[in-house]
Amino acid sequence: MRRFSYRSLISEALNAHQGWQRQWRAPDPKPSYDVVIVGGGGHGLATAYYLASQHGITNVAVIEKGWIGGGNTGRNTTIIRSNYLYDESAGIYEHALKLWEGLSQELNYNVMFSQRGVLMLAHNVHDVQSFKRHVYANRLNGIDNEWLSTEECKAFCPPINISQDIRYPVMGGALQRRAGTARHDAVAWGYARGADSRGVDIIQNCEVKGIRRDASGAAVGVETTRGYIGAKRIGVVAAGNTSVVMQMAGVRMPLESYPLQALVSEPVKPCFPCVVMSNAVHAYLSQSDKGELVIGAGTDQYVSYSQQGGLHITNHTLDAICEMFPQFTRMKMLRSWGGVVDVTPDRSPIIGKTPVENLFVNCGWGTGGFKATPGSGHVFAHTLATGEPHEINAPFTLDRFRTGRLIDEAAAAAVAH
Ligand SMILES: Cc1cc2nc3c(=O)[nH]c(=O)nc-3n(C[C@H](O)[C@H](O)[C@H](O)COP(=O)(O)OP(=O)(O)OC[C@H]3O[C@@H](n4cnc5c(N)ncnc54)[C@H](O)[C@@H]3O)c2cc1C
Repeated sequence: MRRFSYRSLISEALNAHQGWQRQWRAPDPKPSYDVVIVGGGGHGLATAYYLASQHGITNVAVIEKGWIGGGNTGRNTTIIRSNYLYDESAGIYEHALKLWEGLSQELNYNVMFSQRGVLMLAHNVHDVQSFKRHVYANRLNGIDNEWLSTEECKAFCPPINISQDIRYPVMGGALQRRAGTARHDAVAWGYARGADSRGVDIIQNCEVKGIRRDASGAAVGVETTRGYIGAKRIGVVAAGNTSVVMQMAGVRMPLESYPLQALVSEPVKPCFPCVVMSNAVHAYLSQSDKGELVIGAGTDQYVSYSQQGGLHITNHTLDAICEMFPQFTRMKMLRSWGGVVDVTPDRSPIIGKTPVENLFVNCGWGTGGFKATPGSGHVFAHTLATGEPHEINAPFTLDRFRTGRLIDEAAAAAVAH
């Protein structure tokens, strides 16, 4: 694969850009692979990349029913942070954040990772107590997170309205300065390019319709719209569709799938320097490099596989945005969309073995898995390569919903972006 460098950019500029190659192939599926990954989102592609680059396993196929990155990877608001409460969560999200910090160099592909800081606003006494608890817990884990007073929040992000007469007054905030955003589709494309160049087959427009098991019950391959594909190991990384895919092997998952929405405004000049999250009102805001305000809303209250949500949810979010940032009241919104997020009872992911031999799963990232993409792929590749969990994903078992060893970020944060 030709590397991106100053030299290649200059020579292509002089060559009217005629010499660029396709960034990944479009191969026909082989009869069988060592590993088949179901789902060509960021997590599936990262898993394939690390299987090839870290474990030397290159006889791998990523099977995607649509186009790579067309699921939640290409639909999210790209908030990246690692300041989660519990040790297990802090471990996996910080592992991911450290990988983000070197990812563009590692992939030789600009994922536009921007550490502009994520500020989580507190609007009531409970928020203040809970965020301060996060700050202390994060520091014990060596993760940066600091408490800002109301005035310090305003100094860090001048558009914030700190009037105390509004419905949700700002009572301070928790700031992680190393947190930020990245370009979502570049993450999928960068991993795809890196995996493909090491021999991984990326097969798009190919839907998995069944999982075949042998007489002993072990998974041996997948039935797809392009025929049967054998596999020594199968990794299901299908986000909102995980329950449907796992049901094909007879495994019932503790997941609920909800629509989650986002929207963007018309582009304007740079006016918003960081990422601001407000859990209490369920609104998230940053500005893209194109200039659009990128706004995240909450999930719908009912389960659904529809990639669009209720209008009242976006209306509620925009009410909150206008109150927190009054100067955006006259901005025009250009488009909105939804993704289907897979939510576990404790709002933490499931990464590891399943009751079916040779069948592994990586799911349950819900509303907040984009930030974990490199870390999730890294530890899941280890799990698929060795058959055993990496120490970082060892606590995130499917079994915990039977044993009760939950990692209850739902109670800790009430939201997971
Ligand atoms: C609106 C919105 C905002 C969000 N904001 C944030 C945020 O700010 N920060 C954050 O960290 N996270 C956020 N998230 C969550 C984040 O997007 C997801 O957790 C993450 O992208 C999941 O990645 P993935 O690779 O597992 O899933 P996906 O990218 O959805 O990939 C799964 C793939 O599996 C494919 N698939 C499904 N079934 C089959 C089948 N039968 N056969 C073959 N392929 C199949 C799908 O087509 C899809 O491409 C948000 C999500 C949404 C929807």
